[in-house]
Amino acid sequence: MQLAHHAAAVRAATAGGGSVLVPTMGGLHAGHLSLVRQARRLADTVIVSIYVNPLQFGANEDFSLYPRRLQQDCDRLQGLADIVYAPADSEMYPDTQTVGITLPPLAEQFCGKSRPGFFQGVAVVVCKLFNQCRPDAAIFGRKDYQQAILVRLMTRQLNMGVHIDLQPIVRADDGLALSSRNEYLDADERRRAPRLYAALRQAAAQLQQGERDYDMITAAASAALNADGFQMDYFAIRAAADLGMPPSDGSDLTILAAATLGTTRLIDNLTLTADGALI
Ligand code: AMP
Repeated sequence: MQLAHHAAAVRAATAGGGSVLVPTMGGLHAGHLSLVRQARRLADTVIVSIYVNPLQFGANEDFSLYPRRLQQDCDRLQGLADIVYAPADSEMYPDTQTVGITLPPLAEQFCGKSRPGFFQGVAVVVCKLFNQCRPDAAIFGRKDYQQAILVRLMTRQLNMGVHIDLQPIVRADDGLALSSRNEYLDADERRRAPRLYAALRQAAAQLQQGERDYDMITAAASAALNADGFQMDYFAIRAAADLGMPPSDGSDLTILAAATLGTTRLIDNLTLTADGALI
């Protein structure tokens, strides 16, 4: 496995083509590793990028706290990845970034509402990584479902020629979606954190039983989570394809939620497919 700090080194190593990129911010856990395993199924050369992108953090967010441990991440990737691309800031942002990507209104909703500029920052860094590494495909987790929808849209509408592959959420045994931010939780918060997923499951069960009053379902879930000490950001039911308004017949829905527990922001989602499967 090669550790590259410059895009030119990644391109030299992938000159024959046929690479797949897994973009991450590091703090790697089993969720990231499942994406890397999927990358291996799709291509001979697997690139994992590790970069904590300053452009996607707000002024009062956890940029300086965010886990940074390249050596441990590299150890976890041994035998799974071919290239770890850990660029320096100067490689990613040679200038103050004045060029941006305009995203559709979805980028201002849900996570974009409470984190202004977040998805624009993500779009710019993903575009840079694609231009630098020139992969055939990139793997994203359903954990950040809104992000995945927007990245897919950007890639298609800007003809980037990178196939976007989405992978299921990897969870702890108690249901909590794995996240680099879970390590901010203290013991009591960690014990209560799986209730977010439990609320998604409860909402999904109501939908499966034929309940179609989406407002009632989401209001009840928010109230229950509030009572459990979560500060709710949103709990919503949307069309899975584009996170637009949900079809009234209850097919292909995504239930998405974000809440703060203590000081830790947690997000999660659950998709109910047309054939009744939960992903
Ligand atoms: P991050 O390092 O948090 O920016 O995440 C990098 C990629 O890993 C994104 O595509 C995430 O959606 C994905 N990811 C993070 N946590 C999980 C998880 N628990 N299961 C599956 N994918 C995940």
